[in-house]
Amino acid sequence: MRVRKRKGVEDYLKAHEDIVLQEVPESWEVVFGNAQPIEIEVGCGKGDFILGMARKHPDVNFIGIDLQETVISWALDKVLAADVPNVRLLFVNGKDLGDYFPEHSVSRLYLNFSDPWPKKRHAKRRLTSSSFLHIYEELLVPFGEIAFKTDNQGLFEWSLAEMSEFGLILEQVWLNCHADPAFAKENVETEYERKFSAKGQAIYRVLAHFPKREGVRDEVSEMSI
Ligand code: SAH
Repeated sequence: MRVRKRKGVEDYLKAHEDIVLQEVPESWEVVFGNAQPIEIEVGCGKGDFILGMARKHPDVNFIGIDLQETVISWALDKVLAADVPNVRLLFVNGKDLGDYFPEHSVSRLYLNFSDPWPKKRHAKRRLTSSSFLHIYEELLVPFGEIAFKTDNQGLFEWSLAEMSEFGLILEQVWLNCHADPAFAKENVETEYERKFSAKGQAIYRVLAHFPKREGVRDEVSEMSI
């Protein structure tokens, strides 16, 4: 959803460029002051998830990414109020993430309640489309994982098919992840998740990882013998 521009947002973000990076960083290790693993959320919205994860996992560095400046500024409000050292924000389109991260440097990628773009002609904009999966595969460490939550059944089904076709291994699929006590215990809720589950809607989730590419080819050639 597009939001109305917040007044003075550019100056606000610039004043906090230690949190919302304004340029491509030389190294994330320098930004965070340590070499902890990096996990990112593409389409972080107002930041509850990325901040909650950073609080819960102080031994991991988290980066929230969103293409709307005003939305990032709302996440910044929360990060400043929380004073958590292991979280940063990026105001950038997910399709340009290759400029911001060295290849195979991200440990895990989260997508939460991504825009469904229901029209077929907009399918490429969905954050689970193959054009984005190519980008994520470059960013993620070998066998790197994607965790995707949504309330939208249509987007979920389409995303499972898109991921499978791409060669991702679906480790676990939940049709109602809140009903799984093990997951519910570790879950960090997003703003959308809170809203939708309050209305009684089921939350779908998939945890998938990229394959070792040579391995996939080996399996295929073995099968054809
Ligand atoms: N994850 C949050 C917000 C979900 S709304 C939550 O669960 O509450 C989806 C968000 O994705 C919006 O804020 C939108 O601006 C952002 N978004 C959509 N396409 C994007 C893209 N290509 N790159 C980065 N962010 C994107």
